[in-house]
Formats: sequence, structure tokens, C-alpha cells
Amino acid sequence: MTFCAPVKGVFAVNCYFAIDAETNHGFLIDPGAEGEKLVRLIFERGWVIEKILLTHGHFDHFGGVEAVRDALDIPVLIHEEGGAYLERPELNLSRFCGGDLTVEGAQYFRDDDLLTLREGDLQLKAIHTPGHTNDSCVLYDEAEKTAYVGDTIFKGGMGNPDYPTGNERLLLKSIRERVLTLPDDTLLCSGHSDVTRVRAEKPRYL
Ligand SMILES: [Zn+2]
Repeated sequence: MTFCAPVKGVFAVNCYFAIDAETNHGFLIDPGAEGEKLVRLIFERGWVIEKILLTHGHFDHFGGVEAVRDALDIPVLIHEEGGAYLERPELNLSRFCGGDLTVEGAQYFRDDDLLTLREGDLQLKAIHTPGHTNDSCVLYDEAEKTAYVGDTIFKGGMGNPDYPTGNERLLLKSIRERVLTLPDDTLLCSGHSDVTRVRAEKPRYL
């Protein structure tokens, strides 16, 4: 089950919960801001969030991490290229948006890793999709045909490749070869747009 919780810091961002319907255990993806609000929601719903996952290391996707970690004491995971973003405000862009933000003690996953829960069958596959940033990943729930795509692709457009480590050619390659090759009815849950499906976005990239 997926649940979208829009949050607002400097920017509005879609934060997502991927929850195993049997166990109520799950993942929190991209807590970009308003961590306390997310914690309240978690307690209200009775979810057991085991891990925080980041689609990439821009601050507007991790600004709520500290508040959630303080309350739940759970790990935060990002692609192995993402450590530099969490450590460096000029890379994660917080330096230019109101104040330096960093995250310490992250754990890392690699392309094709399966991210699993202690309790529950729900699992997400990390699909490395560099281009918006070099650490960008899609987190794919094959069973639910749902992909958490961060800022790689949006409804009606693609991510911005103009920030540090961005690369438009690589972004198009990632979208064509690693996102649009998912089944046509796969739901795409992005950081900054309404949800869409692979089928709806494909014609734009042919
Ligand atoms: Zn971004």
C-alpha cells in the first residue's frame, strides 16, 4: 500500500509511505520536511516504519530525516553515491536555500539491491537512474507495480539535470532504459508532481 504525504519546507515535496498491508510495517521515502507531522501520522496510523529511504540527496527530500530519526531511531538509506550529498550543503543545495543541512550516519545501497523489512513481504528494488543527480534511484515495488521515482521523471516531464552532477544525456538514458522499461501500468510516484503511469509518459521519450 502506498500513501502520499505532501510536506512543505522551502519547497513542497511528496513524501511517501510504502506499507505492507499484512504487518503494517513499512518504509518512509523522502521525508523532505515537516518531520514532526510525519511522526504524528505514523503514530496515528499505527505503522511501524523500519527504514527511511532517500531517492537522492537533495535537501528538499531529506529535511525531515532528523525529526523522524529522533522519534523512531531507525536507519536512513541512500544510494552509495549519495553520501557526498548528505555531507555537503553545496551539493544538496541547502546552502542556497536558507541554511546548511546535513545528515550523518546514513547506510548505503547499490544498484539492484533489494530493500526488505524485518516483518512483511513488501520489498523495494533500488534501480540506479543517474541524470538528475548521480545518486538518483527509483525504488520499485514489483508486487504492487509502484515505483518511487524521486526527481527522475514527473507527470509530463523529466527532472532538472542542471544541478551539480546532473547530466541530461544520462537522465534520458536512465528514463528510457530503466524507468520506461517497467511494465506499462506501473504507477510512478514522483517528488514533485501528481502520480502518473509508464504508459502515459512513454510517448514523450520515443
Ligand atoms: Zn532533486
